[in-house]
Amino acid sequence: MRYAFADSPVTYPWWTSLQEGLGEVLARHGHEAAQPLDPGIQVAFHPVSPLHPQPFPRKHRATFSIGATALPIRPERLISEAYPLLIRSISNALVVTLEDDPDTRWVLTPELGCYPVSGTDAADLYENLYERLVPLATSHLIIDNRFDPDLPEELWQGTPATEEMAWTGRVVAEWGLLPTPFPIREVLSEEQWRHLQHLYGIGGLSYGNFSIRHDATRFWMSASGVDKGNLREVGRDILLVKGFDEASQCVLLSVPPGVKPRRVSVDAIEHHMIYSTLPEVRAMVHLHAWVTGAPVTRMNYPCGTVEMGREVVGLLAAQPDPGHAVIGMRNHGITVTGDNFHEILERLEGRVQAQVPMQLEAVQ
Ligand SMILES: [Zn+2]
Repeated sequence: MRYAFADSPVTYPWWTSLQEGLGEVLARHGHEAAQPLDPGIQVAFHPVSPLHPQPFPRKHRATFSIGATALPIRPERLISEAYPLLIRSISNALVVTLEDDPDTRWVLTPELGCYPVSGTDAADLYENLYERLVPLATSHLIIDNRFDPDLPEELWQGTPATEEMAWTGRVVAEWGLLPTPFPIREVLSEEQWRHLQHLYGIGGLSYGNFSIRHDATRFWMSASGVDKGNLREVGRDILLVKGFDEASQCVLLSVPPGVKPRRVSVDAIEHHMIYSTLPEVRAMVHLHAWVTGAPVTRMNYPCGTVEMGREVVGLLAAQPDPGHAVIGMRNHGITVTGDNFHEILERLEGRVQAQVPMQLEAVQ
């Protein structure tokens, strides 16, 4: 893996120590250091000023950007203070040093993950940070959409299944399990917003999604960045995923002609992998919420990566009944399978907690 540390306009002690500590670990693991402007870098570490957070000027969207910052606050306030810095610096992960706890770093992810990493000494801390960050940084994101205006006319107005999806959104909103979408347009300039859309193909940061099988190869799925409590139009709020094209790495969507489509949820690749591997799965609900006792993925891979899909497929396939299961996605949320949305919600009612516990240990 090729990596670079960005130049810092200001000398921050926390940045200097991160650069030295992580640099040593990266070199020991045989990774190749490069210049920040090298277009071939896979991972860029960059300092994020808490006052004027700026994105790393990446040349390529395959570059995974890891921001680092320091804040003089208590961990309880960390997510609300630091999450806007993650977004404004357009980082894929943000490493935060809290001034009153130099032996711990906190890692924030776009999925609202927020967890501490510490070590017995500085060397151990950086080794642990490396182990938590590099699998994320080297995972494969599938975010391109190809829209074909070939949706059969009888599906333009949706089906009973898409109506049930809209109803599910309203129920989950009533349960208080749809976190408020992050007001991304308010904290980014028009140019940064376009940059972010180009990089990740997202329609906004709203959390959670729903999907339901249409037939053996196709499924309906909620769009990216829409209010899940108000799903209405086919092609705009709910899309028909008809496949995945390996050659172009595109998620393929059938839309009605004349509709300006929204992008499908970034988790479409994960759901595609599940529906195509496990025929018994008929519908899925993904929430940034938790169910105690669910089997948990080992690594919190980013949404929309093949690695995340593989982990969830593997855990589902290992369940006694993959068609009716709850899988915990570490430091992120749950994916629940079922026959239809009604049946899933019936199983979930009263069992879901809004707070996702943040865990570090690998599951045995
Ligand atoms: Zn999610």
